[in-house]
Amino acid sequence: HTHTQTHTHAKTHRSSSKICERVCVFGTGDLGRSLGLRLLQAGYGVVFGSRRPHSSSSLIPHGSQVLGHAAAAQSGHLIFIAVQREHYDFLVPLANQLKGKVLVDLSNNLRKNQYPEANAEYLQSLVPGAEVVKGFNTLSAWSLQKGPSDANRQVYICGESVQAKQAVMAVATKLGFSALDRGFLSVARELEDFPLQLFPQWRLPLYIATGLSAAFFFYLLIRDIIYAYFTQGKDISFRIMVSLANKVCPIVSLIMLSLCYLPGVLASFLQLYRGTKYRRFPDWLDRWMLCRKQLGLLALGFAFLHVLYTLIIPIRYYVRFKATERTVSVIRENRTTEFDTTTAWSGDSYLSLGILGFSLYVLLGITSLPSVSNVLSWREFSFIQSKLGHLTLLLCTAHTYLYGWNKFLSSSTYKWCTPPGYMLCLVLPSVVLLLKLLLITPCVDRTITRIRQGWERRADQRNPKNSQPLIP
Ligand code: NAP
Repeated sequence: HTHTQTHTHAKTHRSSSKICERVCVFGTGDLGRSLGLRLLQAGYGVVFGSRRPHSSSSLIPHGSQVLGHAAAAQSGHLIFIAVQREHYDFLVPLANQLKGKVLVDLSNNLRKNQYPEANAEYLQSLVPGAEVVKGFNTLSAWSLQKGPSDANRQVYICGESVQAKQAVMAVATKLGFSALDRGFLSVARELEDFPLQLFPQWRLPLYIATGLSAAFFFYLLIRDIIYAYFTQGKDISFRIMVSLANKVCPIVSLIMLSLCYLPGVLASFLQLYRGTKYRRFPDWLDRWMLCRKQLGLLALGFAFLHVLYTLIIPIRYYVRFKATERTVSVIRENRTTEFDTTTAWSGDSYLSLGILGFSLYVLLGITSLPSVSNVLSWREFSFIQSKLGHLTLLLCTAHTYLYGWNKFLSSSTYKWCTPPGYMLCLVLPSVVLLLKLLLITPCVDRTITRIRQGWERRADQRNPKNSQPLIP
């Protein structure tokens, strides 16, 4: 290279006989350097374009060249722009050198709608002669250095020119990524929003779980601990740690499991009422249906905590103390206690249903993992999630009814005229199960099946004026 700006960091040059495609990276920041390293490892020649080619940092990967932007642009057809969007205007004076080149926009923003147009569209407007492709922005500098693993193998790209996209996809494939063409440059905004998302589908289920836990915690705190303090003067606040937690967990779990199945039931009734499936569900129902998996997984989490809290009951100091005390008093008073078969039956059934319910719960959780659900056919998936799911709800609800056993009718259960938490939590699952029972009765089921196959009760419902369009 005779160019005066040339500054080679290579200690050991690649053999000049080996011809390698040269790719250009503008910006020697975190992302630029990581990407450059990966490109070098994949066998590309890398030329960095920098504002200060001579004083660029020693962190630049060995084997690459650092030139001024204009000179660097000459050396490759593909240019990765690893510079923040705010500085893109440095490209305007380079318009001539960038004509016909493929510019890959890697940029992300700090928040949604930070700018009126997508960064990639802005870049295209600054350099109209170049072909802009958006891509790679969902990767981080860190993951680029680490190499692709299963989770971050996917990169998304979009752009107007098919050839330009193909060139970028070829590089992505060589770096070990699988590139997915998402379409035209107008999709760029969507791709730029990807990295900003923070568990979007988990938000609502997490709010519900937190709200329910807090509400039931305070309800049980008043009913169990504050009630005992006021009526008997006893301080049993230690029960907050295990007893109360072991009540809140199953209650929240059962309510959330029924919240997984309620929207499906509501949707079926809505279709029955409308007599057609060709109308959109209200937005709230749509959103609710889309977060069922997350609701279910959180419910499973609470059920798991309930199992753990239940397993440690025998090693609790309070429980051991009470058991010993009872035994001693039986011996001292020389009493004999009768074995009550009914109690044994109810206790064992209660535990057994709980175990069966929890096992199915776990099965539902496992089949909701993408790696598992991907190998199931739709029929298998819906059999597990719907049929076995409703069975799980039935078993867990029956488990809770058996827990109440004969306490439902005893007035001492209703402290301060309030029902215990587990009775409150039975309302929703019972309603869901009853509605589901109605739906699977032969005549209703027949109508629903016909509607799902495209039958409509009234022919005039096909009139677009009468219905909300299916596609917004
Ligand atoms: P960075 O560390 O701040 O580096 C940006 C580089 O841009 C600088 O090293 C500098 O290189 C160049 N630059 C700075 N000001 C400039 C100006 N006024 N004119 C021309 N060039 C200028 O940023 P980064 O983390 O590498 O991110 C670069 C881009 O990639 C951003 O758009 C970011 O959104 C995106 N991105 C980053 C990551 C990540 O993990 N870091 C992940 C995905 C996407 P020179 O000094 O050599 O000119």
